[in-house]
Amino acid sequence: MASPQLNPNLYVKPIFEESDGTTHEAASVALLIGKVAAYRKRQGIEAGSATKDVIEQLCNRQPTLCKWPASAPRPRQKAQTKGELNKRILDWAASIAEKYLIGRLRFIRSRLEVERRFKICSSCPRAQHWASSCAACRAEVARLETEIKAPLGPMGIRFDDAEKLNGCGVLGEDPRVSIFLDEQKVASSNLPTGCWRRA
Ligand code: SF4
Repeated sequence: MASPQLNPNLYVKPIFEESDGTTHEAASVALLIGKVAAYRKRQGIEAGSATKDVIEQLCNRQPTLCKWPASAPRPRQKAQTKGELNKRILDWAASIAEKYLIGRLRFIRSRLEVERRFKICSSCPRAQHWASSCAACRAEVARLETEIKAPLGPMGIRFDDAEKLNGCGVLGEDPRVSIFLDEQKVASSNLPTGCWRRA
C-alpha cells in the first residue's frame, strides 16, 4: 500500500515516538529519520523502514499537512482545540525565526500583495482564533514574530492591520506573519478555494 507523503513546503514538528516509548526529536525530518535509524541499530530493535515509520507517524499526527494516496485513506482528525493550534503556531513561528536568523527567510516586496492576502485571510472560513490559556506561548510567539517582522518597516511593507488576523487552522501558521513571506505555495485540497497559499 502506498504511504502518505510530507508536503515539503509545510512545517511539521520533527518528533517520533518509538514502539518502546522513547521519544526522538531533531531539527529536521531528515535528521529525525537518521536518529531513529541509529537508535534502532544501537538497541537491536528490528529496523524496518525508519523513513516510512517516521513519515507515517508525522502524517497521522497532522493529516492535513500530508498528501494521501487513494490507497492510504486519510485518518479522521478530531476538531482542533485553541490550545492545539496555539502549540502548532508556536512551533511554526520558531521554525520561521530560525530561518530568519540564518538568513534564509524571504519577504515579498509588494504592499498590494500583502493587502490582497490580508483580505483573503480576513474572510477565510478556515481562520481560527487560537490565543488560548497559554500566556507563555502567546508571549513567545509575540517575541519571535516581533523579531521576524523587524525588517518590514525599512522595506516599506509594514502593515499594522495584519495584527487583526486569526491563525490558519489548516496550516498551523500565523497569517499575521505569513502574509509577508515569500514562501512556496502548497498543493493541498485542504486549503479553501481562493486561499493565497494554495498552489
Ligand atoms: S492561509 Fe489560506 S487557509 Fe489559511 S487562513 Fe489564510 S486564506 Fe485561510
